[in-house]
Amino acid sequence: MSWQTRIEEAVDARKQAAAFRVRQSNAGGSARWLTQGEQRWLNFSGNDYLGLSQNPKVITAWQKGAARFGVGSGGSGHVTGYSDIHAEFEQQLADWQGYPRALLFISGFAANQAILAALLQASDRVLADKLSHASLLEAAAYAPSQLRRFQHNQSDSLQRLLEKPVAGDTLVVTEGVFSMDGDTAPLKTLHQLVQAHSAWLLVDDAHGVGVLGEQGRGSCWHQGVKPELLVVTFGKAFGCSGAAVLCDEATAQYLLQFARHLIYSTAMPAAQVCALQASLRCIQHGDDLRDKLMGNIARFRAGVAGLPYPLTASATAIQPLIVGENQPTLDLAQQLRARGVWVSAIRPPTVPQGSARLRITLTAAHRSEDIDFLLESLHGCSH
Ligand SMILES: *Cc1c(COP(=O)(O)O)cnc(C)c1O
Repeated sequence: MSWQTRIEEAVDARKQAAAFRVRQSNAGGSARWLTQGEQRWLNFSGNDYLGLSQNPKVITAWQKGAARFGVGSGGSGHVTGYSDIHAEFEQQLADWQGYPRALLFISGFAANQAILAALLQASDRVLADKLSHASLLEAAAYAPSQLRRFQHNQSDSLQRLLEKPVAGDTLVVTEGVFSMDGDTAPLKTLHQLVQAHSAWLLVDDAHGVGVLGEQGRGSCWHQGVKPELLVVTFGKAFGCSGAAVLCDEATAQYLLQFARHLIYSTAMPAAQVCALQASLRCIQHGDDLRDKLMGNIARFRAGVAGLPYPLTASATAIQPLIVGENQPTLDLAQQLRARGVWVSAIRPPTVPQGSARLRITLTAAHRSEDIDFLLESLHGCSH
């Protein structure tokens, strides 16, 4: 088969399955609104959980950083791209999370790929929660090691896999808050099991950090667990982009030698690091934002009863409505859009077959009346 035929057939198959993806551009947006021309929609699709992408302190920090350092870092961190500001921020992250070291990456996707690729050898195995993010599952699938997936949040399923012998080492992978479900992993139980089998635990807390725990330290701190590897990302509650891995000194030294995404990629701009420092301060002092977000979550969950969709186990900013089939999910998203509410329809393969959903996300930037409008709109749709 030629490249051309393969490509066309794959795209056609997506269209047949009502799973064809199109990007919708918008003229601009915030955690609360999306606009296009004269129109605007309440935004319940983003991951800017605290509204920090529009925070004046963060914006000013980026502007001042750009004036001082320019806009690009000029090279890999291993050459000239690593500045005093990068070092300072890594130390701030490490202190905040209570780890010896933090290493910055340009994205969460890159961090996960880099860590798994650098660590795993053919004799090793990865045991990953079935619903782990694509960046983790793909990295594990491409690595020379074995990949086994355990039932979502089921420690007994993990235990059965851990009890099977392995020649090399075992890395267990999960998320603090699951990106498409909003539920949280039983980190304490998982980590005890992992430790009992001399394995390591990697927790990707993309959706927990900033939102949960004292000073917004995230799911692990909230549950009193310190995994060997913690990945935090800056594209969600930090309102910016980038990521970091928290680890011990030896692992940091190792990653600096072998993590190819660190070595062969241009470092994050110093100006962006300045913005992230401002974001971190907002998060550390952000109890009012977290209270506001939790209030919005409670308001939504109270009002959603009566809709023909199950209330999920989520107590976080991600509040999915599981519709089931693809086409009805798209129709519902379309009806909401006509009413002025922007919600994403998420379909397989991003989520399991038959569990297409509206991925509703709430933020601290939403007002109570926004939540009420969302609920009214949902109740007003035909289901
Ligand atoms: C968003 C996300 C990532 C990717 O992070 P980026 O910084 O956007 O590349 C990784 N893991 C999880 C769980 C995520 O939700």
